[in-house]
Amino acid sequence: MKIILLGPPGAGKGTQAKLISHKYSIPHISTGDIFRKNISEQTPLGIKAKSYMDKGQLVPDELTNEIVFDRLQNDDCKNGFLLDGFPRTVFQAEELDRFLQGEDTKINKALLIEVPQEFILDRMTGRRMCKDCGASYHVKFNSPKVEGVCDLCGGELTQRKDDKEETVKERLEVYSNQTAPLVEYYATQGNLAKVDGTLEIEEVFQNLCDILGSDI
Ligand code: ADP
Ligand code: ADP
Ligand code: ZN
Repeated sequence: MKIILLGPPGAGKGTQAKLISHKYSIPHISTGDIFRKNISEQTPLGIKAKSYMDKGQLVPDELTNEIVFDRLQNDDCKNGFLLDGFPRTVFQAEELDRFLQGEDTKINKALLIEVPQEFILDRMTGRRMCKDCGASYHVKFNSPKVEGVCDLCGGELTQRKDDKEETVKERLEVYSNQTAPLVEYYATQGNLAKVDGTLEIEEVFQNLCDILGSDI
């Protein structure tokens, strides 16, 4: 099963992606995590991406597409994958379709996690993320067993620089202008399924599993 997760920043894509990837044994590919790793290692890609991310803007398509298509050529993606945070523009979606066509395959499902704007700011400002594995926590809604420590890998939890109020507002603008049109794009292909992202994490997960069913 080849799956895309769609939804505004803070919808719960990363949280659900970790659960789905574990349950169905498919790799979780997060462009945000790839960029953050490159930033912490100060690679040329990281240095370029940082200037856009700090402002809440999208990293240019040319840089982003290349890293995703490289990653999708890994053997572990043969039987399926879960893309989180990609595509984010119609051009990225079109290029992804062309790439997969070349590999004689296609996206099976685009899962949209719907969360209204008024929920987002609280989610983002309370988010804490693991430096090592990218797992997402929340100071109120999903706190780790030990404060400041990742349940999954023991890594340190930190607050993302782009989760401050000003940058979150910019990211929401970017989402509605550049990413929201993808909902229509996948609906037209007949691949779109929606879930209510305001429910508890476990309920959202159950609804996603019901959609994915056993064809995965
Ligand atoms: P995204 O990857 O879409 O930006 P995350 O998965 O990082 O979103 O979730 C954003 C924040 O909201 C995190 O702090 C996370 O713990 C919290 N969160 C995720 N899902 C829910 C939910 N269903 N209810 C409440 N908080 C949630
Ligand atoms: P969130 O979980 O809040 O949706 P991500 O971790 O997915 O955020 O992305 C963080 C930042 O990384 C984005 O604001 C953007 O600057 C950059 N980024 C991630 N994925 C993409 C993409 N597909 N295209 C362009 N920029 C991206
Ligand atoms: Zn971790």
